Parts: sequence; C-alpha cells; structure tokens
Amino acid sequence: MKAPILYISIPCYNEEEALAKTIDHLLVVMNNLINSELISKESRLLFIDDGSKDRTWEVIKSKHQRERMVLGLKLSINSGHQKALLSGLMFSRKFADCVISMDADLQDDIWVVKDFVVKYLEGFEVVYGVRKSRDKDTWFKRVSAESFYKLMLKLGVPVIFNHADYRLLSSRVLNHLNEFKETNLFLRGIIPLIGFRSCTIEYDRKERIAGESKYPLKKMLAFAWDGITSFSNKPIRLVTTVGFISLGISAAVGLYALFSKLADHTVSGWTSIMISLWFIGSIQLLALGVIGEYISKIYSEVKRRPLYIVEEYLTESTEFKLDIE
Ligand code: UDP
Ligand code: MG
Repeated sequence: MKAPILYISIPCYNEEEALAKTIDHLLVVMNNLINSELISKESRLLFIDDGSKDRTWEVIKSKHQRERMVLGLKLSINSGHQKALLSGLMFSRKFADCVISMDADLQDDIWVVKDFVVKYLEGFEVVYGVRKSRDKDTWFKRVSAESFYKLMLKLGVPVIFNHADYRLLSSRVLNHLNEFKETNLFLRGIIPLIGFRSCTIEYDRKERIAGESKYPLKKMLAFAWDGITSFSNKPIRLVTTVGFISLGISAAVGLYALFSKLADHTVSGWTSIMISLWFIGSIQLLALGVIGEYISKIYSEVKRRPLYIVEEYLTESTEFKLDIE
C-alpha cells in the first residue's frame, strides 16, 4: 500500500508566542514519519490564521518561505475555533488521504500523531484522541469540561467522553462532513454521526507551551450552549413536561380551593384567583412547550443534514452509485 498523504490542520488565533516552537516540533514529527515511510513526502502542515491581531500570520509566512511542508490559510476575520478548523479540513480534503486536527499550543501530545497514522493504516477512518488525564488543566477547566461531557451524554448527544478536537479523519469522512451545512457547527457531535470504522487513542494533556487560553469562560459557555441546542431538543421537552406536571398540580389546587370554599375557610375571591392562576399558568407553559416542539422540528429541517450515509456498495452498476450520491 502506498504511504498516505497526511495533512495536519491547526487553527491559530493570536498564537505568535507559541507558533514558531509548535511548527518546529511538528516538522520533526512529520519528517520522522516520512523517513519511516509511514506517510508520503507530499504530507503537509496547514496553519489557519483565524483573524489574529498579532504577528501569527507573519510567523506562518516566514516559515512557509523556508519550509515547503508549511502551508497557510488566512481568514479575513476571527471566525472562531470551529469554523477555522472546518476551513482547514475542507481545504485539506482535496489533497490529503487523511487529516489530523490539533491546537496550536502543543497541549495535545504530538507523538500520538504516529499512533493515529498507524490506526489509519489498519483501516480506521476516524481516530479520536481522548485525554487520559487533565492534571495540567486548572481545577475549574477540569470540572467544567467533565460536567459538560456528562451533561451532553445525558441529553443524548453522541459525544466521545474527554475528546476535544484532536482527531484523524479520512478524506472520505471529510467529504461526508462537507454535506453537513449547518452554521452552528459543533464538530464533536457531528463526527460520531457520520459513522465509519472508528477507534480512540488515549494521551496525556499537557500545559500550553506559551500564551494564554483563547477560550475564556464566556466563549466556553457559548460553545457548550451551541452544542446542546444544536443536538438536543430535551430542554424543550422539559418545558412541556413541566407544563403537564403543573396542570396536574393545578387540578389538585383547584379541588383543595373548592373544598375550602365549601367548608367556609376562605376569604372571598381567594378560590377563583387560585384556580385561574394555576390553570392559566399551566396552559401557558404547555402551549410554549408545544410551540417549542414545532420550532425544534423546523430547526432540524433547516439544518438540511444528510439523511443517510452509505459506507459500502455491493452493486454492479456504478451509475447507481453516482445517482444517489
Ligand atoms: N482558536 C482559534 N480561534 C479562536 C479561538 C481559538 O482558532 O477564536 C484556536 C487557538 O489558537 C488554539 C485552539 O483554537 O489553537 C484552541 O484554543 P485554546 O488552546 O486557547 O483553548 P483551550 O485549550 O484553552 O481550551
Ligand atoms: Mg489549548
């Protein structure tokens, strides 16, 4: 089998402090793999400058002039990690057999790249990097990240526990990823939906080599909220359920209020206020839930996700394949 062309796609936002070192380290990894004939000489490192305000693009440019293995894409504005990552993946899929995505700060162990490639050669088309330990992360990051994964799994989103965006994808999987046209992109939820043979590899999460995290609390919460609302309609179901429960309570309160009235325990007007308050409240909650259900249906329609993905064909006619793809 011919050695595959590997692209490593790295989104960078204000990473001037870390980038030069990251590029040098990755060049060593790539040259090692090329020398041991695990990957082709046409393999490349692709850096995506996500509208940085510092010298990130200059660093990429000057490395590109000296090293043909280093390529760059510059986005016109800061589009956010997920979109920057997608631009790199969509560019790479045209040239590569498989693409690895990773961060620019070397927090993810780069020596695992070799294991990713070995798994790809064994026939896996999706290889997830899973963080074995997070002792180098702050206490807050660790607790918030773990609760996030647990919540996502509870809500029925098919995320891989403790896997961020360090992964290998085959070009075939990337071509299918291209069919997901939604704007609120949450790759960690979409990749498991694409399917194909996958496996996980564990590694230790390290400290950032330089610079600061580009994910302050506000961005982290927005990211988590995006993930939940793009993949789960359970929050809306919750409104409907609470509406039903409240209707039940409303009936009980109504009976109690009527009995109290009959037993002459009440101030005048209390019974009618209690009954109408509970009843109207529950009906409103229920109506909101029902409207929410329809909105969530509309939402899933406008996302225009592919309805199915064919993994293999056992057919004689190639025309049939072309027809349905
Ligand atoms: N990043 C990006 N655009 C952004 C924010 C971050 O391309 O708007 C990149 C960043 O340069 C890094 C990766 O996304 O390569 C992950 O960010 P970071 O390491 O700061 O996140 P953390 O590891 O702290 O969660
Ligand atoms: Mg990081």
